[in-house]
Amino acid sequence: MRHLALLGSTGSIGTSTLDVVKAHPERLSVVALAGGRNRELLARQCETFRPTCVSVALADDAAWLSTQLSYKPEIHHGAEGLMACALHPQADTAVAAVVGAAGLSSTEAALRAGRRVCVANKESLVVGGPLMRKALAEGGGELLPIDSEHAALHQLLADRPSAQIREVRITASGGPFLEWPLARIRAATVEEALNHPTWKMGPKITIDSATLMNKGLEVIEAALLFDLRADQIAVTIHPQSQVHAMAGFTDGSYQLQVCANDMKLPIQYALLWPERLNGPVPPYDWNQARTWTFEAPDLERFPCLALAYDALRAGGTAPALLNAANEVAVGAFLQGRIPFGTIPDVNAALLQSVPSEPIQSLEHVLDLDQRARQQAEAWIRARFS
Ligand code: MG
Repeated sequence: MRHLALLGSTGSIGTSTLDVVKAHPERLSVVALAGGRNRELLARQCETFRPTCVSVALADDAAWLSTQLSYKPEIHHGAEGLMACALHPQADTAVAAVVGAAGLSSTEAALRAGRRVCVANKESLVVGGPLMRKALAEGGGELLPIDSEHAALHQLLADRPSAQIREVRITASGGPFLEWPLARIRAATVEEALNHPTWKMGPKITIDSATLMNKGLEVIEAALLFDLRADQIAVTIHPQSQVHAMAGFTDGSYQLQVCANDMKLPIQYALLWPERLNGPVPPYDWNQARTWTFEAPDLERFPCLALAYDALRAGGTAPALLNAANEVAVGAFLQGRIPFGTIPDVNAALLQSVPSEPIQSLEHVLDLDQRARQQAEAWIRARFS
């Protein structure tokens, strides 16, 4: 039986994780739930799963929750509450599904505590990659990716000697603007950008899919998880999102990982690995006629992908800087403050103006994250207010 601390329970990964838990009550239980500001949903989740530890973003919502529940769990709030859930003594597994850099400290702490950490929060790996690897090594736990492409790579690379791997490829749907000319992409509306063709996800990651920044962050994530260089990780556009990753071997042959595009599959894989139980969706139907297409990404129309490779090659704090700039830029776009085409401009400006340095500590990288956000915000304000 695995005992989960689910960090980010009310988001899209969080609710899918609870669906997986519900399907395998003999294997999975929930001891801690940390939500954000959706207190009504969190209250319903508490009644269903009865965690002994609960946390919300705001103190007022913690007080509200204590008057609503039919039982008496520990109720916390804020960053400390998130940490209390991550390190709950009864939890052996943490699902890190908090959106953005806010999830960094709790992911690191759970790794350091020797837990199995199933990471959906790719920012933890992008921003604090070397620190996560150190915490993993020192804590002696396990780090399993929940991202579909990385779960696919985990399946493809398991037990392979690294000398046999020539390259890995992660696929990208290409997002809603795959066929659009550059000028039209740059002027895309929020509604158009949120209209993802194959995956249903939260707003931040949906915008990142439209710019291909999501794939760029995933390239950085893959480098970290599987100890690969930038030139060993490629991206292939595959709009059907059925092949999630490919492993290319030294002899020129490839293996592909295929499954339905439902996040419950990689979530279940990470929670139950190395076991495989009945899946949350029907097995892949090979009798249904399908067409799969593959093409190279266009870095001119999707400059964020090229910026991610630049940041990975620069190393140190460069990926953290890019991530911070991008979070600010995406937030500003969603608020209607900047055009879609300005998102890569903000990212490029920050990456060019702030030199990369080696990451010293969690405090160092979190401080850099804050400063980068202020700089990105200042860049935007100077041009769009
Ligand atoms: Mg992904």
